[in-house]
Amino acid sequence: MITRSAHDVHNLADNLRQDTVNDSVLIAVGDSPSWQAQLAGAVTVPEQLLSMLQLSPDLLSGTLRANQEFSLRVPHAYIRRMALGDLNDPLLRQVLPVAQECQHVAGFGLDPLAEQSHNPVGGVIHKYRGRLLLIVGGACAVNCRFCFRRHFPYQDKQLDRDSWSEAMDYIRADTTIGEVILSGGDPLASSDRRLLKLATALNDIDHVRTLRIHTRLPVVIPGRVTDELLQWFAHQRLRPVMVIHANHANEIDDSVRQALAKLRQAGVTLLSQTVLLKGVNDDAQILAALSEALFNAGVLPYYLHLLDRVHGAAHFNVPEERARAIMAEMMAASPGYLVPKLVREIAGKPSKTRIY
Ligand code: SF4
Repeated sequence: MITRSAHDVHNLADNLRQDTVNDSVLIAVGDSPSWQAQLAGAVTVPEQLLSMLQLSPDLLSGTLRANQEFSLRVPHAYIRRMALGDLNDPLLRQVLPVAQECQHVAGFGLDPLAEQSHNPVGGVIHKYRGRLLLIVGGACAVNCRFCFRRHFPYQDKQLDRDSWSEAMDYIRADTTIGEVILSGGDPLASSDRRLLKLATALNDIDHVRTLRIHTRLPVVIPGRVTDELLQWFAHQRLRPVMVIHANHANEIDDSVRQALAKLRQAGVTLLSQTVLLKGVNDDAQILAALSEALFNAGVLPYYLHLLDRVHGAAHFNVPEERARAIMAEMMAASPGYLVPKLVREIAGKPSKTRIY
């Protein structure tokens, strides 16, 4: 199997090659680096990350093997929101490889949601009635240590030149599909030009009404919300829904709020999904602060996921009983619209399973 880290590099290079035709990879208007430059300039060396955060490199024992399995990748815009000198910073914990990732834990596997058996044609994952996922690419702006697709064989299963027509034919032939979900990797790591081509193809399929995008990019590189992207949303027939992946209120700063405000103004419905992570957000007050921060930014807290049991992420697991207790505490302290649904995804089930 090609590792995720090797594949990321390949995919990122592909995306950037596509972008060089019309987009400047280096510097956008003003002096801010373009989103592509921020993507390409992400920190991938653990020693560099620790040094930027004024942490001792001695803390790296065990990191290197985990880094070989699934490499560090974190953009500067996200690092700027981490506290200096704090190894337990909730944003740092989400991205720093640690020795525990190499331990094999019973029940934690390579394909926790059995997605590879729901892959009818290249680039398509069809698990639920009425909607399906397109794997737009394998690249992400940030490599989250808990990612349930950290072992996903993107090289065989993503939407590419060979699988494109077959995927569109598959959607066209199934008139029950009213919603197409762009996933990955992060679909917004693709160029606007590629996304526009995709949306145009889906626009021509009458029974598709909604285009949903699952992304972490507006949080980790808010500069990804460009005028081109906003125009792309404004000029299409499909109803745009964006599900933002955020796990801690510290992730939502002014730059993220501004990016989300632009998306709302462009008519995009904004929802959030969060993964419940031990040592990051397994606390009712922390989650309530996240909900508040999201709501203030115009995002409705939607799903709180129990961790998918993927190899390398067992140390983030929060037992179901503890998760229910956290939810009960949140319910007692927050209005209902600020309390996301606690769900678990179970391989083979026709929808997510509501836990609370
Ligand atoms: S951004 Fe999403 S797909 Fe990418 S590594 Fe993080 S959780 Fe996984």
